[in-house]
Amino acid sequence: MQNAFWLAPLSMGTSSILNFTDKLVTANPPFKRVRPGDSNWPSPAQWEQLSASVNGNLIKVESPLAACRQTAEPETCNELFRELKNPYYIGDSPALTQTSGWLNAWQSEPSVYAVHAKSTADISMAIKFAKKYHLRLVVKGGGHSYQGTSNCKDSLMIWTRALNTIEIKDDFVAEGSGQTSKPQHAVTVGAGAIWHQAYDAVTTNAGRYVQGGGCMTVGVSGLILGGGFGSFSKNYGLAAAALLEAEIVTADGDIKIVNAIKYPDLFWALKGGGGGSFGVVTKLTLKTRELPKNFGVLFGKIKANSDSAFKKLIKTFIVFYKEQLFNPHWGEQARFRSDNSLEFTMLSHGMTKAEMQSVWQSFEDQIKSDTENYSFENPLTIAELPARQLWNAAFLKKYAASLVGSDDRPNAPEGNIFWADNKGECGQYLYAYHSAWLPETLLEKPNQVNLTESIFSATRFWECSLHFNKGLAGSPPEEIEAAQNTATNPEVLKAFALVIIAASDQPAFKGIADHEPDIKEGTDASEKIERAMEEMLKAAPGAGSYLNESNFFEKNWQKSFWGSNYSRLAGIKKKYDPEGLFFVHHGVGSEAWSSDGFEKIPV
Ligand SMILES: Cc1cc2nc3c(=O)[nH]c(=O)nc-3n(C[C@H](O)[C@H](O)[C@H](O)COP(=O)(O)OP(=O)(O)OC[C@H]3O[C@@H](n4cnc5c(N)ncnc54)[C@H](O)[C@@H]3O)c2cc1C
Repeated sequence: MQNAFWLAPLSMGTSSILNFTDKLVTANPPFKRVRPGDSNWPSPAQWEQLSASVNGNLIKVESPLAACRQTAEPETCNELFRELKNPYYIGDSPALTQTSGWLNAWQSEPSVYAVHAKSTADISMAIKFAKKYHLRLVVKGGGHSYQGTSNCKDSLMIWTRALNTIEIKDDFVAEGSGQTSKPQHAVTVGAGAIWHQAYDAVTTNAGRYVQGGGCMTVGVSGLILGGGFGSFSKNYGLAAAALLEAEIVTADGDIKIVNAIKYPDLFWALKGGGGGSFGVVTKLTLKTRELPKNFGVLFGKIKANSDSAFKKLIKTFIVFYKEQLFNPHWGEQARFRSDNSLEFTMLSHGMTKAEMQSVWQSFEDQIKSDTENYSFENPLTIAELPARQLWNAAFLKKYAASLVGSDDRPNAPEGNIFWADNKGECGQYLYAYHSAWLPETLLEKPNQVNLTESIFSATRFWECSLHFNKGLAGSPPEEIEAAQNTATNPEVLKAFALVIIAASDQPAFKGIADHEPDIKEGTDASEKIERAMEEMLKAAPGAGSYLNESNFFEKNWQKSFWGSNYSRLAGIKKKYDPEGLFFVHHGVGSEAWSSDGFEKIPV
C-alpha cells in the first residue's frame, strides 16, 4: 500500500492516486494451478510420497497414441484406431476418453499422473495432494463425457475404474435416518462401475430393476451426477431421483456419507448438479424396483416421396405419439432425416408383442394405405423379450446377436458387451452436439402445426432425433415429484422429449496422419446444425438442455442446465469447495476460472 502511494506520479489528483492504488492492490498475480516445468511442480520425491500413500496406485500416464505419433509404420496406428472402436479398450486406459475430441472445443489429452484408486482412502490422499500442490485435478469414471470434462493435460487424475463392486440390498436404511425409516430394496454401486455391470447384477442376477442409462458402457457416477435417463425413464423417472445415499470425498479430503438426513444440501446437489464439481463420489446407493415381465422393441423406417408428404408424415406421427405413445410405456427415439425419412427405435415397458402391435396398427395402416406418398424402407418390426434377459450377455449373443457388440480383446470377460447402435459413438470426434427440452404443450392440438413446421425446417439443415425417454412429461406423478427434488432443470418435468441434433466422425487426433479431424466437413456440419437447432427453438424458445448431452458452446449454460436451481447449487459449491479445487467446463462455479481451469479469474 505504502509503496503504491509513493510511486504514484506527482501530477495525479487524489482520485487518480486512489485508482492507481486500487489497481496495485488488486494487481496481485491471479492464483494459478501448477504445470509440469513450473518451479513449484511437485518433485519426484513428493510424487513418490503420494505413490506410497496410495499403496503404489499412482500411474505415470502414457498414451497409446504416443507410439502412433512416433512411428512411420501405418499398421501400428491402424491397430490402435481399430481398438478405438471398442468402448472397453478405451475405458480400460487412463489416457483415453470415449469421445476423442470436439472441433474448436477440446481434444482428449492424458493427465501426467493418475491415481488408480482402489479405495476411498486413495481418493482422499489424492485430493489432499492436489490441494497442497495446487494441481489441476480431474476425475474419470466411465470416460463418456461429451464435454471433455474427465480429461485435461498437465493434470492429476483420480481414476475410479477399479472401484466397481456391486452389492444388492433388500433392507437398505439410509445412515442416520433411525428406526422411522422403512428398509427398502437398493443397490450400492462402486463409483467406477459402468451400467452394464450394474444391470447384470441387479436385473440378470437379482431379477430387479435399477434406473440407469441406455448405453451400457456409460459410467454410473457421471450419469447419476448429471441427472441421467435410460430407455425406460418415462416409467421409472430420472436416474438421479433414485439416489438414496452416496459416499463422497470433499475438497478438504474428508469422507462423508450424504443422504436426505446427513448433508442434505450436498446430497441434493449430487442429484443432477453435474459430475466433477462437488467432490469425488466413491459409491452410490440407488433404489431398485420390481422388474416388469417384458420389455419390447420396435424398429422401422418410413420414406416420404416429397417434402409435402414428409411434412404430413411428421404431423401424423405427432398426433399418433400424443394419442398412443405419450405414456409411461414408451421410450427412446424417432429420427427425422433430411432425406424425408422417419426412423423409429422405440422401447416399451410392461407390454406384450400383441399389445405393442395393436398400439401401432392404426398408424401403420394409415401409412400403408397411401402408397403414392410413402413406403416402408424397413418394415415395422416388433419383438418382446423377458425383462430379465435385456442385459444378459449370453442371452443377447445367442438370440439377438445383431444388436450387440463384444469386447474382442483376447481374454476379455464374456460379459463385456455393448449395444451395436452405440459403436458409432465409440471414440467419435464431435463436430457439433445440441439438445433442447421440448415442452409437452407442443403436443396440444393448436401447437402441433408449429412443432411440425419446426421439425420439418430443422431437417432441411440436419437430421434431428426426439428422445422421448429424456423428458418426464407423461411419467407417473410420483416419478415427476421425485425428479422435482433433484438439481436438474425443472423444465424436464414438463418436457415430452429431448431433441438432439449432432454430428460426429471417426476417432481423430491432431498431428496423427490420416486420422486428423476434417475441419472443413466439421465446420460445415456445425453451421448446419446451428441452423437446424434455431429452427427447433422457434417452437420452443429459450428451451433448457440436458447437461450430460449438450452443446460445449452453450451460452447461458447455468440457466440452460439448471434453470432456477443454479443459485442454490452455486451456494452449495461455495460451502463444500470454497477454493474451487473441483473444476469442469461449464460446471457449477466454473465462472471463476479460465477455460482450462488453471487460472482464477480476478474479481
Ligand atoms: C455413447 C454415449 C451414450 C450415452 N448415453 C446416455 C444415456 O443413455 N443416458 C444419459 O443420460 N446419458 C447418456 N450419455 C451421457 C452420459 O450420461 C454422460 O456423458 C456422463 O457424464 C458419463 O459418465 P461417465 O462416468 O461415463 O463419464 P466421465 O467422463 O468419466 O465423467 C463425466 C463427468 O462426471 C465426473 N465424474 C465421474 N466420476 C465421478 C465421481 N466418482 N465423482 C465425481 N465426479 C465424477 C467427471 O469428472 C466428468 O466431469 C451418453 C454418452 C455417451 C458418450
